[in-house]
Amino acid sequence: MPYTFGCRSKSRFVPPITKTLNLQKDYLLSGKPVVIKLLPEEGYAGQYECSVNPGTFLITVNYNDEDESKFPARIKAACIALCKEGFRGTFKISCIAGQIVIQRLETKPLIVDEELAKARISLSKIGYEADVSAQEFNDYMTGDIFSEDKTTLQDVLGSEFLMVHEVAEVSELKKMGKVITKRVIVDSPKNVIYTAHFKAMELELDCALQKKDYSWAETRLRQHKSSVLDNDPNLPEGLRPRGNAICEKFCKLLEARTRCLFVSKK
Ligand SMILES: [Zn+2]
Repeated sequence: MPYTFGCRSKSRFVPPITKTLNLQKDYLLSGKPVVIKLLPEEGYAGQYECSVNPGTFLITVNYNDEDESKFPARIKAACIALCKEGFRGTFKISCIAGQIVIQRLETKPLIVDEELAKARISLSKIGYEADVSAQEFNDYMTGDIFSEDKTTLQDVLGSEFLMVHEVAEVSELKKMGKVITKRVIVDSPKNVIYTAHFKAMELELDCALQKKDYSWAETRLRQHKSSVLDNDPNLPEGLRPRGNAICEKFCKLLEARTRCLFVSKK
C-alpha cells in the first residue's frame, strides 16, 4: 500500500520549502532539480516518488513501510508545500543530511493530440470551430490559477465534455486576443476569464444536450449555480446576469427535452 496523506501540517519545514519553490518555479517545472538545505542535518533519509494532486489536496508516495512515523519529515513537508502551491504531477524527492532535492518527473506535454482532436470534432458538430494547439492546451491546464481548482488535468482528459469546455475556453481567450501561456489566467482581467468560461459552459452544455447526456447537463448546471453564481468571490458582478441567463436558458431546454423523453417513453 502506498502512503497517502493530506495537506494539513504544522511542520516548520513547509515555509522555507514554499519560499524556494516559488523562487525556482520555472526551474522546477522544466524538470531540473531544486536543492533546499534544511537545518539541522539529521532526520530520516530516503528517496521517493511522490504524486501530488492539488485538485484533491492528496499526496501519494511509494513508501511501503508499515511505520509511517519513519517517513522523512522533510520529504513530507516538501510534498505538502508542492501541493499547497498548486504544483501537480509526480516528483522525485530525496533527503540526505538535512538537504532535500526535488525534481519533477513529468516534463513532457500531458495532453494527447487525439483527445484534443475529439473535442474539436464535438465542437464543430454544434457549429463551433476551436483553434487550440496541444502546447497551448497543456500550458493552460498546468498553469497558474487564482481560484481553488478542483478539477485535475487527468479528470479533464477522461471526460469528453470537460475537454470540450476547456478547449472552447482556450479558444475563446485567443479570440479575445490573449496569448496562451501558463500565466494567462492570473494575468488576464477577471472579466475576460469569466466571459470565456461562460461561453465554454454554454458550448459544453450544448454538446451534452446534442449527445442527449441530460444527467451530465443537469449536474453541470447545478455546479454552475452553486460554485459560480452563489459562491464565487471572484465572479465580476457585471457578468452575473450572463451567468444567470445560462441557468435559465439551459434549465428550460433541459426541462423540455426530459419532458419529451418522458412523454415519448409513455
Ligand atoms: Zn471554465
